[in-house]
Amino acid sequence: MTEHRILPARQAQLSAASLKANLPEYHSLLTFYEQLFIAQESSKLQTALEPIVIAPEVLQVKHRERLPLVAMTEFVFDAAAGRELLAEICDILRESENEMASSAERIAHAAGRKLEIDSLFRHLLDGDDAYFDETAGSIGCDKKALAFVAYHSLRPSLMVCAEQLATYLKDRTEWKSGICPVCGNLPAIALLDKEGRRSLSCSFCWHEWPMPRVYCPFCNSTDGKELNYLYSETEKTLRVDCCEKCRKYIKTVDARSADRTVYPPLEQVASLHLDMKARDAGYDSGIPLHLPDE
Ligand SMILES: [Zn+2]
Ligand SMILES: [Zn+2]
Repeated sequence: MTEHRILPARQAQLSAASLKANLPEYHSLLTFYEQLFIAQESSKLQTALEPIVIAPEVLQVKHRERLPLVAMTEFVFDAAAGRELLAEICDILRESENEMASSAERIAHAAGRKLEIDSLFRHLLDGDDAYFDETAGSIGCDKKALAFVAYHSLRPSLMVCAEQLATYLKDRTEWKSGICPVCGNLPAIALLDKEGRRSLSCSFCWHEWPMPRVYCPFCNSTDGKELNYLYSETEKTLRVDCCEKCRKYIKTVDARSADRTVYPPLEQVASLHLDMKARDAGYDSGIPLHLPDE
């Protein structure tokens, strides 16, 4: 069976098992994210959404001006699936060793009472920072924990929207840009597939788009002399691509050297040692990390 035929939830489970064996220091973090990603993948299968429609004349302008298809505010969500997943994520957090456990307790308690979940999702898409300050204050939870729970409960809807929207990209000429062609956000991680083709995964909607091997997504440099990489002797599947020009880096999963199942979102969280290595070498993460301790 080839890897892409494995169900994503199973892929996350297999990837977590091999990462835990290789990186015992990540055991509790991996257990938490494994449960989170499996819950999201199964929620995604239940997520029903009417596709977002882009009028032909609008699409023409987006293509011509090389703009992403939609803004974050235009995403739609399956409120029922999102509410159910939010309760599940709060349960996973409460039972974990995660520092967000007590905030999750408060969020779960407030859900459907003080906290109106549909409105939470809407404010997340609107990027309404003041709402998160105010709501976290009124519930008595950590603001970052509230944003984390909201984002991860919405993630299956965002992924379904992105998959549907990707059909509008078929006629687009090459998208050589470090921002997501669907939603305009930055990439979370890069992937080199078994054939050595490079792609970037969006940190918001998780759309994957192809990218030349020698290219910095943050400053668009294509100068091979300015693009290096760092890796750890013990884990060749993961490396950090660094740019000398803008001093930013992105982590890359190199599936060519992987003798195990790879699930990129899990690789992204199980590689803090590479973030440290890159920071010690003087590079900045070019991306939002969406980690509980960030
Ligand atoms: Zn995106
Ligand atoms: Zn750069």
